[in-house]
Amino acid sequence: MGTMGRRDWLFVKGRECFLCRRPVAAGHLCPSCSRTLEMWEQEFRPCRRCGRLLRKEYTAELCPQCQEKLPPFRLARAVGPYRGELRRAILELKYRGRRSLAFPLGYLLSRVVAEEPLYGRPQAVIPVPLSSRRFKERAFNQSALLSEELGRFLGLKVLDRVLVKERHTPPQAGLDRPARLQNLQGSFAVVESSSVEGLDVLLVDDVLTTGITAAACTVALLQGGARSVAVVTVATSLC
Ligand SMILES: [Zn+2]
Ligand SMILES: [Zn+2]
Repeated sequence: MGTMGRRDWLFVKGRECFLCRRPVAAGHLCPSCSRTLEMWEQEFRPCRRCGRLLRKEYTAELCPQCQEKLPPFRLARAVGPYRGELRRAILELKYRGRRSLAFPLGYLLSRVVAEEPLYGRPQAVIPVPLSSRRFKERAFNQSALLSEELGRFLGLKVLDRVLVKERHTPPQAGLDRPARLQNLQGSFAVVESSSVEGLDVLLVDDVLTTGITAAACTVALLQGGARSVAVVTVATSLC
């Protein structure tokens, strides 16, 4: 990368695709990855509140889950569905330690926030934390890496140590919704209330599936004095 700033790198021609690393003639995504990132918009649209993807035939603004009970966060949105190159990029970042992916994914997150007027003007970026046990296993928190890049693109401060996961919880996969809720209840906490007091916060994670993790973090942030919480993730699930 030489003396080039990281931001300049975005606009350099003749490099490799952000996500799949195939050579690209111009821009930062190859035609196939750009298609993947945009194609879903023909078939789906986000639930107005939780951002999970609804088929276009479904005409209500809110997904069935939000109709039943609104989540505590103001809104959530994502770059796209948890499929294809996006999914692969997340898995590589998380489990294969390809940390360099945080930069392009952070850029894509910043586009989502910039293009959705409902985000308003958040004042701080906060990553969904890992428990200390998980952190030791993985050696890094992918959401913190994403937050750092997103904060840089948006010019916002990143509060990395304010929200903590106090209790290690078993993996959520395989649990039904009530069990997941119980699994996470009270496991997040704000440790420095003064730093989130009165702030409109942007909570960052890699994937939103049921929205339960984001909801549990939101409850903790609101209890810690944040004024509101909006969520942005790289990928989201289909309703
Ligand atoms: Zn590509
Ligand atoms: Zn919803």
